[in-house]
Amino acid sequence: MKEADRPKIKDILDAGEIGKDYQLKGWVRTKRGNNKIAFVAINDGSTIHNMQVVLDVPNFDEEMVNQITTGASVAVTGTLVESMGKGQTIEIQAKEVEVYGPADPETYPLQKKGHSMEFLREIAHLRPRTNTFSAILRIRHHLSYAIHKYYNDNGFFYMHTPIITGSDAEGAGEMFRVSTLDPVSPPLTKAKEVDFQKDFFGKETNLTVSGQLEGELGALALSKIYTFGPTFRAENSNTPRHLAEFWMIEPEMAFYEIEDNMDLAEDSLKHHVGYILDNCLSDLEFLQKMYDKELLDRLNFVLEHDFKRIVYTEAVEILEKSGQKFEFPVGWGKDLQSEHERYLVEKHFKKPVIITDYPRDIKAFYMKQNDDGNTVRALDVLFPRIGEIIGGSQREENYDKLSQRIEELKIPTKDLWWYLETRKFGTAPHSGFGLGFERLVLFITGMSNIRDVIPFPRTPKNAEF
Ligand code: ATP
Ligand code: MN
Repeated sequence: MKEADRPKIKDILDAGEIGKDYQLKGWVRTKRGNNKIAFVAINDGSTIHNMQVVLDVPNFDEEMVNQITTGASVAVTGTLVESMGKGQTIEIQAKEVEVYGPADPETYPLQKKGHSMEFLREIAHLRPRTNTFSAILRIRHHLSYAIHKYYNDNGFFYMHTPIITGSDAEGAGEMFRVSTLDPVSPPLTKAKEVDFQKDFFGKETNLTVSGQLEGELGALALSKIYTFGPTFRAENSNTPRHLAEFWMIEPEMAFYEIEDNMDLAEDSLKHHVGYILDNCLSDLEFLQKMYDKELLDRLNFVLEHDFKRIVYTEAVEILEKSGQKFEFPVGWGKDLQSEHERYLVEKHFKKPVIITDYPRDIKAFYMKQNDDGNTVRALDVLFPRIGEIIGGSQREENYDKLSQRIEELKIPTKDLWWYLETRKFGTAPHSGFGLGFERLVLFITGMSNIRDVIPFPRTPKNAEF
């Protein structure tokens, strides 16, 4: 049999035939038994479940059997039989066993179960071998697929916006510079400033904080596009919800107004959560059992309830009347902090909340200005345990209003001429939002720290792997 055609443990558990021979390849999770019989649990990552392999020890080479320890990689050929033992209904009675790679029990870091999440972060190269991380990696995969499927099925085109960007309009001060200049003695201008004309691109460039501005260019041609790529923020946010490198989904739609944008945000989130409930139930059940007893209830709750839609001014009134002691002050004109967002979602409305029409002074320059002169058509979606999961808006399509705002905020137009031109030629109402992929994975898995839902987290002072 070709390796590519070999059934994986998931396939055998789902549809294996009793009495038939199978070959398993994977990693040993546990071994127990004595010098007559050994029970070896093998996992190949295809499912959270292990396959139990039974060895009649005297039939095998003793040295080889001794090498079957937690973490070792093995190939086993044997017959699928009904299991007498507790905990599984079928097992493999081994005929041939080969150890590809032993894992010394004295030094293998995952010899024992029950490590702290902090310790596992220090061994990010091995943590995919744990039940928790393999479940999370599978969920990340299925969620990515669900997202592409959703947008494809709804007439959106996947657009690849640049990762290296020449405009710093959005992320002033929060960007990672991309440069090939010598950091010790960079070329200087006459004014003794770094001469970026001598840099690789002939100008200052950075890693992108968002694909939105370029996404808008696509939407104003293809009507509906989305991006799904990595974004980078050099903000010193040491919180359980911030990464310096994270993935973002950014749909952008021509002819959508703020209400259409809200409908898309709600419908897509429900779809994504529903897809994972339908396709990753055994992983979710494992995570519920180990970490979060209310996980499945919370996911189903999101599917079954309409999100509450309120305007910012109303949200502030509720918070002011709440009688709660918050760490950060509440007041019209101040941005909502995570504690405020979570109060609205978890205590007041007890369901996801969409807040719109924020003060224009706390939101980005490109958001459409309301007629009241002091609010903009911003939209944030707030989720239980997470706070903000989506941030978006209807975009300002009016050339004069947009360029006036850019001037007020003293954003250098030399970097934005191309963006402004879309408002000069065939401008149209349009909207979009950014969904933080890891924030959604955090919500769906019930984990409590965003560093534990991405394979290799990048955070301040941390880029080891
Ligand atoms: P926050 O206020 O939580 O820092 P933000 O307002 O800076 O977020 P946006 O610029 O609106 O975030 O980005 C859109 C979405 O990207 C957010 O709603 C969130 O889901 C996600 N996101 C933003 N910053 C981060 C980060 N540092 N790490 C992970 N996800 C993030
Ligand atoms: Mn935001």
